[in-house]
Amino acid sequence: MKPNWTGVAERKKMEPVKRQIFEAGRSRRVIALAAAAALVPAAAHAANRVTGLTVRNYTDYTAVIVKLQKPSLFKVSATKDGRLAVVIENCAVSPSAAKLDKPVGVVTKITSATVKGRAYIYVTLGKGAKNYEGKALKTPPQIFFKIYKKPTTAKPPEKRPEPIKEKPVVAAKGEFPTSAKEIKPDATPTIIDTICIDPGHGGRFTGAEGPDGSLEKDVNLDISLRLARLLRDKLGVRVVMTRIDDSHVYMRDRTGLANAVNADLFIDLHNNAVLNAKVGGTETYFLSQSWNDWERAATIAENQDFLAENPNFAADPASLNFILSLLAQNEYLQESSELAHCCQDKLIKKLDLRDRGVKQAPFFVLVGCEMPSILLEIAFISNSNEENLLTNPAWQQKAAEAVFEGIKKYKDAYEKKMGSRGR
Ligand SMILES: [Zn+2]
Repeated sequence: MKPNWTGVAERKKMEPVKRQIFEAGRSRRVIALAAAAALVPAAAHAANRVTGLTVRNYTDYTAVIVKLQKPSLFKVSATKDGRLAVVIENCAVSPSAAKLDKPVGVVTKITSATVKGRAYIYVTLGKGAKNYEGKALKTPPQIFFKIYKKPTTAKPPEKRPEPIKEKPVVAAKGEFPTSAKEIKPDATPTIIDTICIDPGHGGRFTGAEGPDGSLEKDVNLDISLRLARLLRDKLGVRVVMTRIDDSHVYMRDRTGLANAVNADLFIDLHNNAVLNAKVGGTETYFLSQSWNDWERAATIAENQDFLAENPNFAADPASLNFILSLLAQNEYLQESSELAHCCQDKLIKKLDLRDRGVKQAPFFVLVGCEMPSILLEIAFISNSNEENLLTNPAWQQKAAEAVFEGIKKYKDAYEKKMGSRGR
């Protein structure tokens, strides 16, 4: 199903650009695409700038996000050689700010240029591209394109030989509850005895994709299941998982579950991706409360699932204000920060990847958690070396052990502080 991602409030003002492209025999023709989408009238003479570009691949489409200094009108046309040209009036772009050198999904290349006061973003599409939708967003200012893929009737390309996968360490359904009804809340406040693990993404939200085709959602789940077993077997805690298979779980249900079972910690497990395939390393996040960060939030990869599920959110300052007021009262920031440091330290020691540090960022999934919560980015699936590690069962186990040790260190320190050690 195609998610509705046009804000209701905006729909009257603009029509999403929607055209069939690259129909047989038409690909060389200049297709006049008169469509334009307006979010707010561009202020007269206001110089604008393209500040960046993100391209992400999903199962059904490839997303191209052109980040702007200010919201703006844009037009789309087709060039003689069949590329899409996104034209932004009264706007400048430096070629390095918006370019893509290697294919991502159905987008094979992106270049840009400033011509006569207009920014041109040229998008070259692969054969798999079908049609597209584009729209302008106000908060943050950006133009958001979805380029839909043709359904593949052919078999998917042969995957590289699967690494010998141990049977999933936790196979049986029900071993880790995934519903609040399956577990009784425990209310011993001084002891950490219930931990909620959230394997990032799942189902139609694949997360990032590695150069060899590994999906973030799969490696997130593999490592999470291993971590779950370690926590249960070695620490004796109850582990609740937001998913134990490839199902889609709504963002609000993830924290909702953790709250419903009075989890003492929320561990959101992800892996990272950027366009630059050389980038690698480990980073751990906890929630931020700065307004500036919220403005950046919609551009953070891990928030894309949430935004797809809540299309009106980013355009609605009221929802941001509401969340900021919640955050202002967040009593778990200090604990979250300590938990993040414990896990980051152990991950670096054990996995020996580049230490990218503990960071703060606004992750929508962590909002509303009534407990200390962190988001782990164990490694970069966009980096070939790290993708190989991430799909290796022995390495997955090592990663799970590192997170386990971090949680254990935090738990020991917390319980000592609360005087409940050695119950
Ligand atoms: Zn992720």
